[in-house]
Amino acid sequence: MSLDNRPKYSGGCQCGAVRFRVEGALGDASVCHCRMCQKASGNFYLPLVSVRGAKLEWSRGTRKRFQSSNHAWRGFCGDCGTPLTYEAPDAIALTIASFDKPEEIAPTIQWGTEAKLPYVDGVPSLPGEETMADITDAPFLATLETYQHPDHDTDQWPPEDIR
Ligand SMILES: [Zn+2]
Ligand SMILES: [Zn+2]
Repeated sequence: MSLDNRPKYSGGCQCGAVRFRVEGALGDASVCHCRMCQKASGNFYLPLVSVRGAKLEWSRGTRKRFQSSNHAWRGFCGDCGTPLTYEAPDAIALTIASFDKPEEIAPTIQWGTEAKLPYVDGVPSLPGEETMADITDAPFLATLETYQHPDHDTDQWPPEDIR
């Protein structure tokens, strides 16, 4: 978020083929436990933030959409599969972790709690390790090169010197 009174945000998919910019105040940030959000994200729950009151611009590429019900579509990158949107006729919400700075967008409510998976509330109390703690069992970590788009807008992507 910038410090002027029109906050600006950017984000996109993992491969960088689809990028977005948002200008203006974000709406409610939430997580949804419903079964459709679980499937759409391939995850335990789906964190979303409404951009209903802001200006959303697709700055690179075009998302694909799957109509998940008679009322809603799920947008994603057709190249890498990153979930990007929940779209209803009156509003669009973006996946929080697809933003370049997801740490700025904290959810304030949970929806669909009737479908919450039984172990989700136990995750914070599981034993925790940093990625590099696994280096003896996963030595490839030492030579890992990322092909993920960086967490900022780029003039050209992918750079010509990779792959
Ligand atoms: Zn992608
Ligand atoms: Zn849901």
